Amino acid sequence: MTLTENQKNEIINLYLEGNSIRKIISLSGYSMERVYTLLSRKKVLRNKSESQKGYHNSINTEFKVGHKAHSGKEHWNWKGGISKTWKKRNKLKINFYTRKRSYILKNSTGNHTFNEWEELKRRNDYTCLCCGRKEPEIKLTEDHIVPLSRGGDNNIENIQPLCLSCNCRKYTNVINYGLAGI
Ligand SMILES: [Zn+2]
Repeated sequence: MTLTENQKNEIINLYLEGNSIRKIISLSGYSMERVYTLLSRKKVLRNKSESQKGYHNSINTEFKVGHKAHSGKEHWNWKGGISKTWKKRNKLKINFYTRKRSYILKNSTGNHTFNEWEELKRRNDYTCLCCGRKEPEIKLTEDHIVPLSRGGDNNIENIQPLCLSCNCRKYTNVINYGLAGI
């Protein structure tokens, strides 16, 4: 089946009106090769790369074009717009939400926010309550005073800032280091 002169003009007009080749294909139902061949023969393609794409390896390039159509918000993995740079700048927040998710998976009760945790660290002067070392030297972790495995919850009253080694040493014991200092 060859295209009649009318059909050819229709395609060219659609293209000249500014429709994308993808749209023309879906509107007219003609194959990609046919549309590209026609447009490049009539010398109306907008740029050279477009005609090269269409003529030689149209299927591969069309896939790449199609991929672009699914980038960013259009992508099926879009989770609400957390960019890589945001992630880099907000590592603490990312860690916090990863932890929060693990608490949810453990079916634990209670909840606290990122700000509450930051506030707790600030109130304790970024110090490990057990060994007394400060933050750049160590990294503070959330310790549950009553461990989740012993029925503790995630509320901020049950959280104390400890360094990782003190947190590990405490293991599943119930020790409130905050009370020891008072
Ligand atoms: Zn410590």
